[in-house]
Amino acid sequence: MSYISGKILLEHAAENHYAVGAFSVHNAETVKAILAAAEKEKAPVILMVGQKVIQYMGLEHMKEMVDSLVKEASVPVCVHLDHSRTFEQNVQAIHAGFQSVMFDGSQLPYEENVEITRSIARIAHSLGLGMEGEIGKIGGTEDDISVEEKNAMLTTADEAVQFSQASGVDYLAVSIGTAHGVYKVEPKLNFERLEEIVEAVQKPIVLHGGSGVPDEQVQQAIARGVAKVNVDTELRQAFTAGLREALSANPEEIHPANYLTEAMKRMEEKTAEKIRLFGSAGMAKFF
Ligand SMILES: [Zn+2]
Repeated sequence: MSYISGKILLEHAAENHYAVGAFSVHNAETVKAILAAAEKEKAPVILMVGQKVIQYMGLEHMKEMVDSLVKEASVPVCVHLDHSRTFEQNVQAIHAGFQSVMFDGSQLPYEENVEITRSIARIAHSLGLGMEGEIGKIGGTEDDISVEEKNAMLTTADEAVQFSQASGVDYLAVSIGTAHGVYKVEPKLNFERLEEIVEAVQKPIVLHGGSGVPDEQVQQAIARGVAKVNVDTELRQAFTAGLREALSANPEEIHPANYLTEAMKRMEEKTAEKIRLFGSAGMAKFF
């Protein structure tokens, strides 16, 4: 199977009331673990390339490495640029062959967010790619971008619909009570607000900070129109736990192939669990 546009993927998910898992990749092992889980569950999947991995691996190197691993995948795959803060990086990702990009201008003045998002959306659309924008501030820390949780503001339906129409995004990240990173207290999603936003926007909605949200709340959000759920922290926790165990069980081990195998296995299991939770298992056949 081949690459698929994020727009096609998420419109199908929204219409059919499931969500596609968007999982962050960090190296070859994490790409392989996610692909193995998606193939096992026969699910379409989004591989997210975020700011941290771009800093230490480089956007083009990551894309080339992902390409070589995706080539033989039996499920549809979409490579997505996560939380980009620049027009230039979005264009670089499009040039490198991403199927989906995101401009996160949620910290900018509204007009500026609209203007930059719209200019990227025009390029993405001329190539049939998907574009994600963000309105409202999602709390927590991700990839060195920090927003004080107390300043995290829930997105209103009015600003969501205005931004969605003015910017031309295909799917929209909103703030409805999730945060990036590890939760200090159990999150409580605002479903009433989500319903208002979905009703007004009429586009697939993206849930950031999907790690650590109780399963039942995730399913309720998907039932109401969330079509993409971003998961990073929980997968890194699984990968790192596997790595730590492998190394402490055998402190003399110095071969990466040996100690990384357990890390990959843990991450694959966690990814498969998320895919089943999101309802995307078995959905690969529709593409
Ligand atoms: Zn995010």
